[in-house]
Amino acid sequence: MSEERTMIVSKIERGTVIDKIPAGKSLQLIYMLHITGDEMKTVAVGIHVNSASMGKKDILKLTNRDLSGAELNKIWLIAPDAVISTIKDYQVSDKRPISSMRSGNEFEGVLKCNNPTCATNFNEPVKNKFILMDRDPLLVRCYYCDRVMIEDNIKDQLGM
Ligand SMILES: [Zn+2]
Repeated sequence: MSEERTMIVSKIERGTVIDKIPAGKSLQLIYMLHITGDEMKTVAVGIHVNSASMGKKDILKLTNRDLSGAELNKIWLIAPDAVISTIKDYQVSDKRPISSMRSGNEFEGVLKCNNPTCATNFNEPVKNKFILMDRDPLLVRCYYCDRVMIEDNIKDQLGM
């Protein structure tokens, strides 16, 4: 069955579609993006949707919502193969794999280092920066002090 025929939610006028999320992970993304339902914006969530390339996948359609660079980093941590589409006037104006929207295994603006003596935890103009070491389970290393943070620390910080 084609993806078109199994699409359970209609097109949106303006906003962002996050496609090719690993099946079952879209709710974590919703928490990480701080979508609570109080925004008065329509959000469509597809969980375990049939996918030609993935078997099953999740998909999120966010109306009137753009993604910041930090949000792209968060999504990339748990959905590295996600495809991000920008929708305007019901048309796809931009569609790119998330991997092409950011570079390498380093990311900023998402986590705080849990080493209290790390330079990023003082009032110096040093931004948090981490290197992704593993995804399953999540494992990251601070770029500045080499402190390794495990999935439990990361999920706590991301509100997952
Ligand atoms: Zn650090």
